[in-house]
Amino acid sequence: MERENAWKKYQKNNEVSKVMDFANGYKKFLSNCKTERECTSYFEKKARDRGFISIEEAIKKNKKLKTGDRIYATNMGKEIALFVIGKEDLSKGMNILGAHIDSPRLDLKQNPLYEDSDMALLDTHYYGGIKKYQWVTIPLALHGTIAKTDGTTVDFSIGEREDDPVFCITDLLIHLSADQMSKEAKKVVEGEDLNVLVGSMPFGDEIKKDADKKELVKKNVLNIITTYFENLDKENGNKKYNFREEDFMSCEVEVVPAGKARDMGIDRSMILGYGHDDRVCSYPTFEAVCRAKNPKRTVCGLLVDKEEIGSVGATGMSSRFFENTVAELINLYTDYSDLLLRRTLSNSFAISSDVSGAFDSIYSSAFEKKNSAYLGRGFAVNKYTGARGKSGSNDASAEYVGKIRSIFEDNDIYYQICELGKVDQGGGGTIAYIFGNYNMNVIDGGVAVLSMHAPYEVISKVDLYEAYKAYVAFAMNA
Ligand code: MN
Ligand code: MN
Repeated sequence: MERENAWKKYQKNNEVSKVMDFANGYKKFLSNCKTERECTSYFEKKARDRGFISIEEAIKKNKKLKTGDRIYATNMGKEIALFVIGKEDLSKGMNILGAHIDSPRLDLKQNPLYEDSDMALLDTHYYGGIKKYQWVTIPLALHGTIAKTDGTTVDFSIGEREDDPVFCITDLLIHLSADQMSKEAKKVVEGEDLNVLVGSMPFGDEIKKDADKKELVKKNVLNIITTYFENLDKENGNKKYNFREEDFMSCEVEVVPAGKARDMGIDRSMILGYGHDDRVCSYPTFEAVCRAKNPKRTVCGLLVDKEEIGSVGATGMSSRFFENTVAELINLYTDYSDLLLRRTLSNSFAISSDVSGAFDSIYSSAFEKKNSAYLGRGFAVNKYTGARGKSGSNDASAEYVGKIRSIFEDNDIYYQICELGKVDQGGGGTIAYIFGNYNMNVIDGGVAVLSMHAPYEVISKVDLYEAYKAYVAFAMNA
């Protein structure tokens, strides 16, 4: 079924500027938040500005939760859950919006720094599914956190401010690429060769001992890093800490494309940026949860980490964090029991949001036209996801799809129903099945993306806006 391009509706109703304004807020967020930690801090700060209090504060005050109360919980600085308490009893279930805030990237290894032929480089291990050849010869930035042995941590980013240096992974010149050009695409650039060039100037001070006169470029880089962290410590009012090479062991540094998200197209209808997967669902999810005031059912937004590597670990969707947080919530709401927790979860409704691969006419042979997501045709609903015969999929029931359709149609939401691509071409999973494990109704949905998982991905501004509207409609009406 082919739907009208969603811009038509906005053009008819003189609402194009509303879409552009929402997109501007998103662009700012996307430009500033390139890691799960940065997203979590951003959402936490914004949530506090908008009247949310942390669950720890609520527990300390022994707060009795009532309709309209706004609570949030973060987990290890990498994921956040938000709740707006509804009028109906909590055990009747929540309306949950889930999405993820981690994106494909390169992580520094724990022994990353080395020198070769008068150049200093950082070794990486890629995170999530990437086409490795896309990550060479583009400006890169470092975003990270260092946990020092004195117990303090420092967050930093280098490569985003106008006067910051940037970094790069080099590629072989075409003139000498006879061998490289005949390789398979997955071997053109190999994972072990994704090494970031960070320096080429030797240490300048006089060195006394002969033994210390080697690897002077690396020495210079380390010296600059030490000074950099000393200055950060000074700014943050921390004790001076002498950064040593071993401190990379307890660093998490993510190498990401440098620079801001930009309007794309002569008509400015699209946005080009790093990390739309899945921040293009996370941002409108957060905005929709914040908009909920005295909802009928309790509204929940859950923005998780580690989706790109299988939702594993303490901060991924498979962790007990969500369940534990809901247990704490119930305990603040009424007399806690395990049965109430189970009822609350299984009576909940969820939209598990993630990006969809948008139909690309240049690569049309990978898509099946009737069931593809199209840029500009609104919120992309997936009854199922998965690969090789729906494996790893949640597969929402027909009844639940019917319920979602009626909410969207009553609220004038532009939506399309789609799957990822041709049946045998591949596929992908999301966090939906983990919500499903609680026996709740859940459906996949999200925003269509061109060049998904590339350093710069493309989305349509109307799809972003329709996602926001879809989330508001679901939160208030499911
Ligand atoms: Mn995703
Ligand atoms: Mn992804």
